[in-house]
Amino acid sequence: METILSIKNLDKKYGAVHAVNNLSFDIKKGAVYGILGPNGSGKSTTLGIILNVVNKTSGEFSWFDGNLSTHDALKKVGAIIERPNFYPYMTATQNLALICKIKGISTEKIDEKLKTVNLFERKDSKFKTFSLGMKQRLAIASALLNDPEILILDEPTNGLDPQGIHEIRQIIKSIAANGTTILLASHLLDEVEKVCSHVVVIRKGVKLYSGRVDEMTASKGLFELKIENNKEKLIQILENHEAIDRITQDHETIIATLKKDISATEINQYLFEDGLVLSHLVKRKPSLEQQFLDLTNNN
Ligand code: ADP
Ligand code: MG
Repeated sequence: METILSIKNLDKKYGAVHAVNNLSFDIKKGAVYGILGPNGSGKSTTLGIILNVVNKTSGEFSWFDGNLSTHDALKKVGAIIERPNFYPYMTATQNLALICKIKGISTEKIDEKLKTVNLFERKDSKFKTFSLGMKQRLAIASALLNDPEILILDEPTNGLDPQGIHEIRQIIKSIAANGTTILLASHLLDEVEKVCSHVVVIRKGVKLYSGRVDEMTASKGLFELKIENNKEKLIQILENHEAIDRITQDHETIIATLKKDISATEINQYLFEDGLVLSHLVKRKPSLEQQFLDLTNNN
């Protein structure tokens, strides 16, 4: 698969602040990537570096397999990394036409891009009459005017109401469905879960996980067990079971974390054959949220 962007050992220091710490990852054509991390974890700095608006301290990045200069490569990139600035007394169409003129590109795509972001019906309304969500959608349209290979968005739903958030996410998905690669930075786990196929999780500039979102969630899960008596024997037998990774206790509940997939029926049968009768047995998968908290807290 074609590599759109390759980042290797990227580092950025602002004085004593190590904003990006030895970060490496690749972006392949056609997927939706999230950079996920709490506020201050280095997401915007990373985007700024790859867009040539922030100077890196060390490391490398290359666009499109390094076949183009960064200047030429960025002509194939659409990005919104700051609150968009449009002229309040100009209409949506007029604002986009001005951007085309500044960038030296044709105006022929304006209507198409306004349709993509569901603003075609409002194309002749002045920018100042737009809601925050509509303003953000116009910004997305402006970033699409040159039919970029990749669209880069920094916290695209920040400050929007639930309806506005939903609309932006739907639009991002439809742009991706048309074949445009997407890279979005977000501190919202559920945003990444809903919109992205791939994720790079960072904390304090350090990469904690990169890979498919669904593989991040593919942990084997855990059992919650309770027993009225023979608790020590239960723990000992569980510890010796090949599917069980480790045992922890939460008051009367025993938590058995799995390293292999096994059903509640199987474990119940196995324990019963050893004379152990449970009073409680539930199989759970840790939520992505729990895994994200585990990742960002324990490293
Ligand atoms: P995020 O986008 O994940 O919230 P940022 O990339 O904005 O994180 O910031 C990462 C770290 O770098 C933070 O500690 C932030 O305070 C610091 N930082 C960002 N920009 C600057 C700057 N221009 N000067 C000094 N420190 C900065
Ligand atoms: Mg940021």
